[in-house]
Amino acid sequence: MNSDKSGYTLTLHNSLTRKKEVFEPLDPQRVTMYVCGPTVYNYAHIGNARPAVVFDVLARLLRRLYPHLVYARNITDIEDKIIKAAAEQGVPISTVTQKYADIYRNDMGTLGVLSPDIEPLATETIDGMISMIARLIESGNAYEAEGHVLFNVPSDAEYGALSGRDRDDMVAGARVEVAPYKKDPADFVLWKPSTDDQPGWDSPWGRGRPGWHIECSAMIEKHLGETIDIHGGGIDLQFPHHENELAQSTCAHGGKTFARFWLHNGFVNIEKEKMSKSIGNVLLVHDLIKEAPGEAIRLALLNGHYRQPLDWTAEGLAQARRMLDRLYGALRGLADVKAERGANDGVPPAFMEALCDDLNTPKALAVLFDLASRANSETDPGTRAQLKSELIGAGAVIGLLQMDPEEWFAGAGLGPNIEAEEIEKLIAARNAARKEKNFAEADRIRDELAENGIQIEDGPQGTSWRVAG
Ligand SMILES: [Zn+2]
Repeated sequence: MNSDKSGYTLTLHNSLTRKKEVFEPLDPQRVTMYVCGPTVYNYAHIGNARPAVVFDVLARLLRRLYPHLVYARNITDIEDKIIKAAAEQGVPISTVTQKYADIYRNDMGTLGVLSPDIEPLATETIDGMISMIARLIESGNAYEAEGHVLFNVPSDAEYGALSGRDRDDMVAGARVEVAPYKKDPADFVLWKPSTDDQPGWDSPWGRGRPGWHIECSAMIEKHLGETIDIHGGGIDLQFPHHENELAQSTCAHGGKTFARFWLHNGFVNIEKEKMSKSIGNVLLVHDLIKEAPGEAIRLALLNGHYRQPLDWTAEGLAQARRMLDRLYGALRGLADVKAERGANDGVPPAFMEALCDDLNTPKALAVLFDLASRANSETDPGTRAQLKSELIGAGAVIGLLQMDPEEWFAGAGLGPNIEAEEIEKLIAARNAARKEKNFAEADRIRDELAENGIQIEDGPQGTSWRVAG
């Protein structure tokens, strides 16, 4: 066992090599991780929450091992689905994207997901996309045709390496439109023309907008550099999105390695069925947090290994709640002793070793339960203080058990007793009061929210809220 936290060996399953490999950052002074974030035009479902939670755990773990982590998770705020939603509502796209980006941040915050270090917006990276597309044309990897710019897949001999697909699969798997200007059916769009009523930016190829894939490549280049340590996302993004990101970035950088490690989390099914609108079983995080504590939803998502498919069930969520009752019950039993931060900030080596083994959260949770059972039968005050410190210290690494146990049992574990729409209305009223310098009213609204178990925080991105814990 290592007593020094830097003594842990982190292994991660790399989708590109299909192997578990020892992870060492290229530069320990600047460890870089990028995860594809939401396209903000509607509410996030539980399948969207899984990568947010899984990579939040990885970010917390990496920060313990390497204090200089730069974690970027983007917001896709220009995309055809957003344009369609805005047109249907008769509002500018920014009205739709700001609303759903805020809801996403709040909902993920309720699940204990910490904000990434950088949250780049696609619409703030258009110059970088245009520059990258121009370089791809220059290098012969892309071509202009009828106002579009397309990436020419046969120009990249390595294309397909990440998803392991052969050419026929790729053509069948890509959403192939009947586009006569495509040189090859697998070619994909980097830039496309916008009509006058569609949002667009001036470019050397006329007024238009980017394709989805180029957004991530350009945001990574701008904020993290040409080679990053880890690229993450859901398995549904491996093809074509990540395959295309890989092709664009590698070709734009003269063959330089784009992402050293690719990590993908498994699908989320609902009660053994695929989640789909047609079945009507899409579970929105926004609804779930009204029924269950965010911490229980988080635990239910971490109860299986991240690479495995996760079967989301009502019973699984109820079980996660009971698990938290047990863990918080152990902490409540330790109320008379003070947690003492000993070696490793209280994080037991067995817990760290489990997480360092390709983020084995089920094994790490088993260590937590072992600590809880020992706490329940231990009588020595010194050992009990140490167990308390270990429960809280280990919990922090996976974003659990940071609440006062009395608060959990008093009902913080029950979820907010106020509708999200009502919370947002109150926050807007408070912001209006603050603008008018009516601070008494602003404070009154803050107190009203607090009475309903909602904690608010003012930041540069505006006011965010979360269920108090
Ligand atoms: Zn992406």
